[in-house]
Amino acid sequence: MVKKFSLIIHGGAGALEQIKREGNEADYMESIRRIVEDGRNVLAGGGSALDAVEHCAMKLEDDPLYNAGRGSVLNEYGEVEMDAAIMDGATFEAGAVAGITLIKNPTVLARQVLEKSEHVMLIGKGAQGFAKFCGLPQMANDYFVVDARVRQWREAQKMGRMMLDHEAANPSQKLGTIGAVAQDCAGNLAAATSTGGIVNKRWGRVGDSPIVGAGVFADNETCGVSATGYGEQFQRTVLCKMIADFVHFQNMDAHGAAKAGIDYLVKKVQGMGGVIVIDRAGTCAVGHSTSGMIYGLIEHGGETICKLA
Ligand code: ASP
Repeated sequence: MVKKFSLIIHGGAGALEQIKREGNEADYMESIRRIVEDGRNVLAGGGSALDAVEHCAMKLEDDPLYNAGRGSVLNEYGEVEMDAAIMDGATFEAGAVAGITLIKNPTVLARQVLEKSEHVMLIGKGAQGFAKFCGLPQMANDYFVVDARVRQWREAQKMGRMMLDHEAANPSQKLGTIGAVAQDCAGNLAAATSTGGIVNKRWGRVGDSPIVGAGVFADNETCGVSATGYGEQFQRTVLCKMIADFVHFQNMDAHGAAKAGIDYLVKKVQGMGGVIVIDRAGTCAVGHSTSGMIYGLIEHGGETICKLA
């Protein structure tokens, strides 16, 4: 039995120079620290890894700084369409939703899919109907659409391109997709990932975040992983499962596997993004091919470390 818990959360990977220049760094650090501390309370109080990642993902979705839930990026029609997934490393159960609108917390819906449906993924109107059945709160469209996203979307439309939320070429960039990985006091691992996707994406586009093995993965015998970056690249490399395979087949720890995974992403598809990992020993690691990543962690119940680096 592992006596100490570990937790790591991320708020996206990308070029963070803009945030530093605009002096927003403190807002992100404060938000990440608050949410890690919330997660600490869940785990220290005996909560499960699954409870902790759901809780942290929900708080990150509620904060408009991030590209998930409120503050999600906009698709080609200027609408918010969200994807999310959660996985329990103890049972190998997973729940995911894709292409959803108006649901306040996509990760909470993904957990309901895990617990109350016999499926792994629900999409679009079916997922909305299931949310109603589960009694989850819906919000008006205005709740999700924040001004910075509208400016960012107009710019992407003008340039006629899709882009990562945190791409360097975008002057109104904000950090992106969110994720959380935890190991509870019983040694169980869980992971969650939630996103609005990429800016100006095609209507109906689904990224890596809700896809088990691509944007999220958890297995008590190896590790838990959450990813951020160009979803298509993570889908094609099945990157989160690849990282677990490095642990499984090559006996790597979280640091080795995160690095090997990012090297693989770059080598195979010149991928841009980042990952957070907790291995079965509770070691936390971060890897990214972008110039920066924002994250916060607690390793083995120790102090909270937050970085925008
Ligand atoms: N991975 C997300 C997607 O492609 C985007 C991101 O991480 O910012 O939907």
